[in-house]
Amino acid sequence: MDDEAYITVEGLSRTYHRPGSELDALVDVSFTVPRGQFVGIMGHSGAGKSTLLNIIGGLDRPSSGAVSVGGVDLAALDEEALAIYRRNSVGFVFQDAKLVPALTVFENVMLPLVPIPGSDEEKSAKVEAALEETNIGHRASHLPGELSGGEQQRAAVARAIVNDPELLLADEPTGELDRHNADRILELLVRLNREGRTVLVASHDEATIAVADRVLCLEEGRLTSERLVDTRSAAPEGE
Ligand code: ADP
Ligand code: MG
Repeated sequence: MDDEAYITVEGLSRTYHRPGSELDALVDVSFTVPRGQFVGIMGHSGAGKSTLLNIIGGLDRPSSGAVSVGGVDLAALDEEALAIYRRNSVGFVFQDAKLVPALTVFENVMLPLVPIPGSDEEKSAKVEAALEETNIGHRASHLPGELSGGEQQRAAVARAIVNDPELLLADEPTGELDRHNADRILELLVRLNREGRTVLVASHDEATIAVADRVLCLEEGRLTSERLVDTRSAAPEGE
């Protein structure tokens, strides 16, 4: 891990304009993230967590302020360059796995590789490696509807990492799972982080955020507090 900031968010604001009203979803948010950190973004529903992840992931643009990732100022990217950034540098996991129902798990995980150069053989090997990594290889030929919620989310994580992105963004990734399956997804995200990826997880759930190195708290679009957590070296329960 180097000291240089991998993500820099500076004076970030996002206002949604609706007929007759304006809503400040993010207000003057600033922070930096070193490469390889696992950051939790905590806040109630409506606090601005998804808006923040969407902007960092290049799915949305800020109203003002700047975001750079890996030294690239996202504002300087046109739509095409932003699409390439999303495809090559970012893996997204959402609350709902968002798998394509008519495609098998294997085909779903292949989707991000379709527009990328490379042989079918190379791509299949990448899909298999991602399925292996997320322990869902045994469901490769199944349709999403045949999978449990936890399995669907593991397939969604496989799809997010198949391009080997440096940055993994997870928006309420355990929101639809029971505790057991939620914990398995969190273990998986921690493992992917330890392999060197920078991970940002947004959640309103303390138990989900508890695996992070560091927690940023959002309230009504403002960053209100920040804490460093020493979870990795914490003694097991009962000691
Ligand atoms: P969170 O993920 O923490 O629940 P969001 O980032 O989704 O928060 O939303 C922050 C605020 O912005 C909320 O008040 C929400 O209603 C509003 N908002 C989010 N997306 C839009 C949109 N596309 N248009 C208008 N308002 C939006
Ligand atoms: Mg949200």
